[in-house]
Amino acid sequence: MKANFSELRNKMVEEQLIARGIKDPGTLEVFRKVPRHEFVQKKDLDIAYNDFPLAIGAAQTISQPYMVALMTECLGLSGKEKVLEIGTGSGYQAAILAELAKEVYSIERIPALAENAKKLLARLGYQNIKIKVEDGTAGWTEYAPFEAIIVTAGAPDFPSPLLQQIPLGGKLVIPIGGRFTQTLTVATKHKNGLEIKDICGCVFVPLLGKHAWREKDVG
Ligand code: SAM
Repeated sequence: MKANFSELRNKMVEEQLIARGIKDPGTLEVFRKVPRHEFVQKKDLDIAYNDFPLAIGAAQTISQPYMVALMTECLGLSGKEKVLEIGTGSGYQAAILAELAKEVYSIERIPALAENAKKLLARLGYQNIKIKVEDGTAGWTEYAPFEAIIVTAGAPDFPSPLLQQIPLGGKLVIPIGGRFTQTLTVATKHKNGLEIKDICGCVFVPLLGKHAWREKDVG
């Protein structure tokens, strides 16, 4: 029997997002629209809308729907922004952002993941997403500044190049903490410094790169 994905998306929005306090109408609307099942492995089609992260290959994950929604809501997008994502993974978060912002730039360090995401996003018709393979902890100077930067892997601290690539009023949403658990953190740049807000505990794969964890740290 073919799953009714649109019904599953609505159920996910009601039971996982609204029930936990996601309120932004734009965020809720795109979660009812973007086909998450296209971004998971074929064997996981029937659990694509469940309340947990899923493996996407190369020891990486597509995050739990609620975490993707919460991070998106934290960015407070109006539709005019240039957004930078570090950690393309499956491309799902990039698709969500592309619906809510003007342009999305996304960096992935694992070539096979970047290639799959690029092909899938093109097949789904997204024309405002650019992906490159690189260490994203250095940001993307060619297109900076970005009104919003989202990091979808856990870092020991704010990577300084990313802070440099947001303008005044810009936001960086990033899990900060140890190797195994982190705090979802929002940094907003003001004239007299950074305003830092801790949102909640979270668990992410490590951000590996020059301005985050080094391969030797994670074993
Ligand atoms: N946003 C993704 C999605 O929607 O599927 C999920 C991302 S997954 C939790 C974290 C991703 O960050 C992995 O694909 C990993 O390879 C990538 N990553 C880790 N360190 C990175 C770095 N320095 N630069 C770019 N990507 C990195």
